[in-house]
Amino acid sequence: MMKHSKTSGRFLRCMAALLIIVTAAAPALTAGVRGAAAEQQIPTTGRRSFDVISSGELYEAEISLSLEELKARTDNSDEYIPHVWPVRFSDHGYVSSYFGVRVDPVTGEGSEFHAAIDLADKPGTKIHAAASGVVVEAYDSAGYGLNILIDHGNGYQSRYSHCNSMLVAEGDVVSQGQVIATMGATGRVTGVHCDFRIYLDETAIDPLTVLDPLEEN
Ligand SMILES: [Zn+2]
Repeated sequence: MMKHSKTSGRFLRCMAALLIIVTAAAPALTAGVRGAAAEQQIPTTGRRSFDVISSGELYEAEISLSLEELKARTDNSDEYIPHVWPVRFSDHGYVSSYFGVRVDPVTGEGSEFHAAIDLADKPGTKIHAAASGVVVEAYDSAGYGLNILIDHGNGYQSRYSHCNSMLVAEGDVVSQGQVIATMGATGRVTGVHCDFRIYLDETAIDPLTVLDPLEEN
């Protein structure tokens, strides 16, 4: 019974994701009719460039498994849907910030849109890949600190920021649940946590709409 409801929940999420993709594609198709210039800007996962930006330098990542190959594998498999919690909370762990508008945590004033959830726990806590995929970014930035972006080959990408250490590099193929980093406080932060984002077709979405219910972990 549990198994059945979990499966249908995931099925519904996949259907919802599909609906979003179809809805998002509609204006692009209309635009395509209007002008030839618009034809060039219909991004699909299969045609996405493998070039990644690292430390301001553009180069071609050595990806041993192409995104097209990955995409072919994703059909009917939730291994490539980022539904596994990246942090398995200890007794000290909790969700310290949710997706949505919030007061700027660093300045304590003004508001910002937080396109992520923050998972707080002890420094060094293991961070796991939410789904299988290819590491397309692994670098240090002023805002995100040490951060990793995984492309899941089906329109989904997931980012893990403010890490203390990174255990994978650009081009690495990772499997769902694999430890990819440890939790830290690098970049623009007020404390130790993992800022976790999920993108669908390059738009950040609320991770809680994709992640398993927390009690299952
Ligand atoms: Zn955050």
